[in-house]
Amino acid sequence: MKAIRNIFLALALLGTVSCGNDWLELDPSTAVNTDEAVKTLQEVEFTMNGIYNMMRTSDLYSGRMMYYGDVTGDDMQAVSSSKRTGSYYRFSFTRDNGPSSHWSGLYQIIQNANLVLSRVDGIKVSEDDEQWRDNLKGEALAVRSLALFDLTRFFGVPYLKDNGASLGVPIVTTLSEIDAKPARSTVAQCYAQFVGDLEYAEELMSPEFAKGRMNKWAALSLLARAYLYMGEDAKALKAAEDAIAGAEENRWALWSNKDYPTAWSDDASAAAPGEILFEMVINTVESQGKETMGRLNSKDGYDDMCITVSFYHLLKEDPDDVRLKLLSFDKKKYAYVFKYQPQAGEDIMDANVPVIRLSETYLIAAEAAVKTGDNDKAVKYLDAIVSRANPAKTVVGTTVTLDDVMQERRKELVAEGHRMFDVIRNGGTVKRIDEEDASLTSTRHFASDKEYNWDFYKIILPIPKAERDANPNVAQNPGYDN
Ligand code: CA
Repeated sequence: MKAIRNIFLALALLGTVSCGNDWLELDPSTAVNTDEAVKTLQEVEFTMNGIYNMMRTSDLYSGRMMYYGDVTGDDMQAVSSSKRTGSYYRFSFTRDNGPSSHWSGLYQIIQNANLVLSRVDGIKVSEDDEQWRDNLKGEALAVRSLALFDLTRFFGVPYLKDNGASLGVPIVTTLSEIDAKPARSTVAQCYAQFVGDLEYAEELMSPEFAKGRMNKWAALSLLARAYLYMGEDAKALKAAEDAIAGAEENRWALWSNKDYPTAWSDDASAAAPGEILFEMVINTVESQGKETMGRLNSKDGYDDMCITVSFYHLLKEDPDDVRLKLLSFDKKKYAYVFKYQPQAGEDIMDANVPVIRLSETYLIAAEAAVKTGDNDKAVKYLDAIVSRANPAKTVVGTTVTLDDVMQERRKELVAEGHRMFDVIRNGGTVKRIDEEDASLTSTRHFASDKEYNWDFYKIILPIPKAERDANPNVAQNPGYDN
């Protein structure tokens, strides 16, 4: 009976984001009620399920968290100002109206992961259950790391701009008291935290597929991504190579050219995980409503975000590129990326959302190899993506440049939340170029910000007003502070 009561307490805690109750408005999201009791591995498992449930809401990883990095870049845009993606595309947020869920939702994940981590070591288990416990601990560390990584890139300037000297976000690794008011750590300190956690997590975690959950190869891929953002290229290459080798030994594989146009609708399973390392699983029973990537990216849904004309021109430089088959054009002359394909029998809003995909890990390996001067490996990993897109093409025999890899990333990862971060983290300039095409006559840039780099203050978000009101120790980002 007590266990059941505690589970309900955990549920109430997890529900605070979606309910939008007063607690969030009164207290910083970094605080948590410590009344919980998680005393068995079953209860840990239950709490982890609650964390994944929270992650897959459309405020987080099935919606806003994913589209931000695309519509703030040059390859995708809002269809119009009034669309959900419009304020991101136009950088129209201010210190008073900045989006709040990026902060509050991610801290809810962190705090619930902390709840798991504060209890899991103390749970006595039989020898048979030690691996189960290790894996759960690794999962909690990995999801906490993903949340802190995203908080740091949403609210802190790119690591390589000043080697992480700027402010990141508060690091919260224990169940802080309800009135805790932590200040922001530096970007470098945030990276040190989640890189260290991921290095530990991947040692603990299971190599096997688990539907909708973090696994060892997803954690290693995320670690590789983090190293790449830091300029730790040799480490990024090693982590990415280890992730690729380990995943492929455990049945993951890049989708084939033939399967690529429709593989997105496959329901990844242990027998056929495809290239989905970590995804948000949504289905009819646990629908996340209509604000998900499936509907936002479809002409049959909210038709919220579309590709830019310049991106279309880039992609159709090779008319045989398989990725052109993912584009769907509507009568109004916009084109949408159909990666968020519903699984069998589902509405489009219930399409699963990949968060970490094996193709990205290949592209991390290729980029890191270029940066470390290892052309053989750059060719190997880039060619897998290039020749999959069009088997008649290859980069074998060439000297791969950073630009080659970045162009391929644009084509491969469009609509998966990467583009603006990819330009900015390498010190580049986003250029929103006006071009015209007979198939996309309605598509035009309407944002006033057309060219920007990591010096543009709006490439990071303002700290939400409610959080600063509740915790004055959290400094505002420069540019938003007056
Ligand atoms: Ca689904």
